[in-house]
Amino acid sequence: MSDERIIIRRARSEQRRPRPPKDKPLGFGRYFSDHFFATEFDRKNGWHLTRIEPMRQLQIDPAAICLHYGQEVFEGLKAYGGKNGEIFLFRWQKNAERIQNSCKRLMMESVSTEFFGRAVKSLVLLDREWIPREAGSTLYIRPTIIATDPFLGVRPGDEYAFFIIVGPVGAYYAAGFNPVSIWVSDHDVRAVKGGLGEAKTAANYAHSLCAQQKAAKLGFAQVLWLDAIEHKWVEEVGTMNIFFRMKNDEIVTPPLAGTILPGVTRDSVITILRHWGMKVTERPISIQEVMESSKSGELIEAFGTGTAAVIAPVGSLSYKEQEIAISDKKLGDLAQRLYTYLTRYQWGEEEDIFGWRERIDQLDLDQLTNP
Ligand SMILES: *Cc1c(COP(=O)(O)O)cnc(C)c1O
Repeated sequence: MSDERIIIRRARSEQRRPRPPKDKPLGFGRYFSDHFFATEFDRKNGWHLTRIEPMRQLQIDPAAICLHYGQEVFEGLKAYGGKNGEIFLFRWQKNAERIQNSCKRLMMESVSTEFFGRAVKSLVLLDREWIPREAGSTLYIRPTIIATDPFLGVRPGDEYAFFIIVGPVGAYYAAGFNPVSIWVSDHDVRAVKGGLGEAKTAANYAHSLCAQQKAAKLGFAQVLWLDAIEHKWVEEVGTMNIFFRMKNDEIVTPPLAGTILPGVTRDSVITILRHWGMKVTERPISIQEVMESSKSGELIEAFGTGTAAVIAPVGSLSYKEQEIAISDKKLGDLAQRLYTYLTRYQWGEEEDIFGWRERIDQLDLDQLTNP
């Protein structure tokens, strides 16, 4: 019953959006392209009214379930503009699977991997001139699903909207690839077992703001989250997964045990490190072990991973009045090597040995939209 043909309504010239100013850094999440993708679901019609249209404000009922009870999930991925005009996507199927899992957790209607892929590719191709060409800049892609039925009762929605917006974002490290200072939160937690930690859903971020503000007031860039029960086990850093490199070249990262987000970058980094012959262990690591192994010289690097930053080296950790410096607060060589390899891979400058890259600039928009 679903109608997944995508109707395209192109922006007229006066509906085009202003281009980002050339003399200012792009930053992150400030600029959006000329069009957006949207489709709607109800029990009778399945997904229907599927279209790409000029960017505009959404119309939503003030009683919509997502606004009151938080039925919302999202994704984040990027389109990369290659040197010779190529456009690449990186492991977008993982984002499709993850939004399906997030939907399951929040009792929401989801979309198929195939539909997700066609929607992303069609929008990126239509707005291809928005892909920035400066080194390290990308087109950020934000797919979102919300429950839209106007009903003030706590139950899963029967009506949903799936929309995608895209916009140019700058290299995360406009000011250079500098290690960040981290504050360990031993009071506020991000997620608890049985909660929403595995889902990419708005509540997790609303929930993280007060610890992030405490960290910022104390002069730190990001929060390191500990587990919610013992306040002992390391979970994530800000909105990134975290890795520790020990002297014996064992690389440790917390396991996916229900409270942390299964990052696509995390999975890619684990695969690459193993391919390079390094030992990666997914195991619980306590904050005590991190602090002690830093003092004993065992810990030689720490870094976060996520689509936005790719690799974020950690320069220092502050936990209960104690501060440790990691890699002398300098960029570690493994973080550097991973960043270089992964970004070259995403931009089509490394061989696609894992089958992670898809070149989409030669796809036919008519075929994508009329399967
Ligand atoms: C999105 C996100 C990540 C990173 O996931 P990627 O797929 O690598 O971008 C990690 N932690 C949280 C909390 C996130 O929201």
